[in-house]
Amino acid sequence: MYNFKDQKVIITGGTRGIGASIARAFIDAGATVIATYSGNDEAASSFKASLNEHANRLHLRKFNVAKFDDVERFFETYEKEFGEVQILINNAGIRRDQIIAAMEELEWDQVLDTNLKGTFNMTHFAVKLMAQKRYGRIVNMSSVGGKLGLSGQANYAASKAGQIAMSLSVAKEVAKRNITINNVCPGFIETDLISDLPEDQVKEYKSQVPMKRFGKPEEVAHAVMFFATRESSYITGATLDIAGGLNG
Ligand code: NAP
Repeated sequence: MYNFKDQKVIITGGTRGIGASIARAFIDAGATVIATYSGNDEAASSFKASLNEHANRLHLRKFNVAKFDDVERFFETYEKEFGEVQILINNAGIRRDQIIAAMEELEWDQVLDTNLKGTFNMTHFAVKLMAQKRYGRIVNMSSVGGKLGLSGQANYAASKAGQIAMSLSVAKEVAKRNITINNVCPGFIETDLISDLPEDQVKEYKSQVPMKRFGKPEEVAHAVMFFATRESSYITGATLDIAGGLNG
């Protein structure tokens, strides 16, 4: 359906869950994919093995998006190796749920650092590369949680709302260089990230979704691809819910 031949795509958290699905979709559409991750080597190598026949177009890089210096180093070597980037997907994200009175400073910091500061770190460097070529597509993986809020997710919701707010400013800064930045907001998607939810809570959440089911990573990937196309040239600062009707 899509053709991303000759385009380079950086996907943070691109080796598992939604990110892996996005990476697969871009590979299928002919792109060269640089999928990053932070610690789970086993998941990364089994993902790479599953796409073995496209090994020349799938590159894995391991670093923590929350660390500015690590991200700077990644981009230094990236530029030497690949020279340019057309698409950045800020997908890496974590949850550390806790009600506000019991939330530890570390739980707040880890979530904000990974989800929001990570988005800043990656966007900061990617935009410089994109501006040289006067072209770019950036998609942030936000969440309906950033618009609705969920009990126990003050840190997560703040980080996800922050991505949306950040994109509104960045969209205005980079518009004249043909760089767009948009957000997708998944609802509940079947990945490791929510695999710890107790069965009764899963049942309760599914009953709140108008489509009465959780989404699949491929359903999110499809929307990401749409924003990343050349043809989506007049869409920027926008936010799209992929949530089976549980819209924020
Ligand atoms: P996941 O299955 O837990 O995968 C998370 C990915 O992010 C992994 O590849 C992980 O690397 C990477 N990552 C985590 N912390 C990182 C860090 N500090 N630096 C670099 N990479 C890091 O999660 P998912 O469900 O696919 O979620 C992907 C995104 O979608 C997240 O931003 C999440 O908030 C958002 N989202 C998910 C849902 C949902 O229901 N699943 C709903 C709304 C939004 P390792 O493999 O090395 O750990």
